[in-house]
Amino acid sequence: MSYNIETKCVQSGYSPKNGEPRQMPIIQSTTFKYSTSDEMGRLFDLEAEGYFYTRLQNPTNDMVAAKICDMEGGAAAMLTSSGQAANFFAVFNICEAGDHFISASSIYGGTYNLFGVTMKKMGIECTFVDQTLPYEELAKYFRPNTKCVFGETLTNPTVNVLDFEKFARLAHDHGVPLIVDNTFATPINCRPIEHGADIVVHSTTKYMDGHGTHIGGCIVDSGNFDWMAHADKYPGLCTPDDSYHGITYAEKFGKGAYITKATAQLMRDLGCVQSPQNAFYLNLGLESLACRVRQHCSNAMKVAGYLKNNDRVAWVKYPGLEDDPEHAMAEKYMPNGTCGVLCFGLKGTREECNRFMDGLKLATIETHVADSHTCLLHPASHTHRQMSDEQLKEAGVAPDLIRFSCGLENADDIIADIGQALALI
Ligand SMILES: *Cc1c(COP(=O)(O)O)cnc(C)c1O
Repeated sequence: MSYNIETKCVQSGYSPKNGEPRQMPIIQSTTFKYSTSDEMGRLFDLEAEGYFYTRLQNPTNDMVAAKICDMEGGAAAMLTSSGQAANFFAVFNICEAGDHFISASSIYGGTYNLFGVTMKKMGIECTFVDQTLPYEELAKYFRPNTKCVFGETLTNPTVNVLDFEKFARLAHDHGVPLIVDNTFATPINCRPIEHGADIVVHSTTKYMDGHGTHIGGCIVDSGNFDWMAHADKYPGLCTPDDSYHGITYAEKFGKGAYITKATAQLMRDLGCVQSPQNAFYLNLGLESLACRVRQHCSNAMKVAGYLKNNDRVAWVKYPGLEDDPEHAMAEKYMPNGTCGVLCFGLKGTREECNRFMDGLKLATIETHVADSHTCLLHPASHTHRQMSDEQLKEAGVAPDLIRFSCGLENADDIIADIGQALALI
């Protein structure tokens, strides 16, 4: 039986049997007991399914991953310790030293550094591209060693909309998967797999947790990409793994190959594991995700409308606004709304902008977005501080850009707060 997304939020991932706890249990255990040496051995050979050590797999984590997998319409999923770990694993699972991949340049600052600086040190090269370029221009960036294409459904912080049709076609015409970070839209408003994405990643730290309680990430594989059809490109999936007695993931695990490899190799060796306690909090957040996302979006729509009509505001970017240049694309991929985050710039100096931010009473300055409390940030002074002006420009982050994340409060109160702070400049 296939349920609607609101029902999946509550019900997917865990169905207690007779006499079992109604709430998803936290399996707070590092290890799991087996009766015979042989049983344990089969687990280590990936010949049998079962738990043996929480760094690799934990039942609570798996239940929550299964819920997100179902919400995204995927085939297999895993939790990670953070969104950063999810993005790293998603790419590193199919790229090694000497490989290349393509990413939209307008992405989360942390991901930009990961791809452009840290992964470069590992010998993996990323070309950042302007996602608004036409197909023919973007196609020129592919090389024989290009292994994937990466973009964000709604970019953080600039809330630009990814042209899924163009990006999926671009990736697939070149025989590589499309990886999409769906953190801002969440599967409530957009399910990238339905629009051609092969792998979906999340910082569950944001709306999915939704209450600012813990850091987490998730990778969902659609199971749709045919690795064996491009076996020469993906030796890690399509040739025997010596560290598992010669298993070939794509042959043995079918639609689960990508996630099994990421678990068996990357989680085993790098250990960016989610704690079961945090997975439990994440599940609580997921249960109310559909209701919350609607309220976040409705608040953002009202705040964007207010800012748009205010004399002290130079510009507003929110794809939900009807006159936004990306409104049609937002309607196409996110007909029920986008997210609670918007951006704007003020008329006036940097000093006046600071006076505005410091004058807010309800909205707080935070290195966070997408939780129940309204918060804001000035990326050029905060999250993107390490970037040069040139890099800021490439990432599409204007020096005057204020990222404003509408919480779950009453929109009138958020607007009144903005109004009193604007009056200070
Ligand atoms: C926050 C964020 C990340 C990084 O996630 P963490 O959980 O903070 O590691 C990655 N991508 C996007 C779009 C984000 O907003």
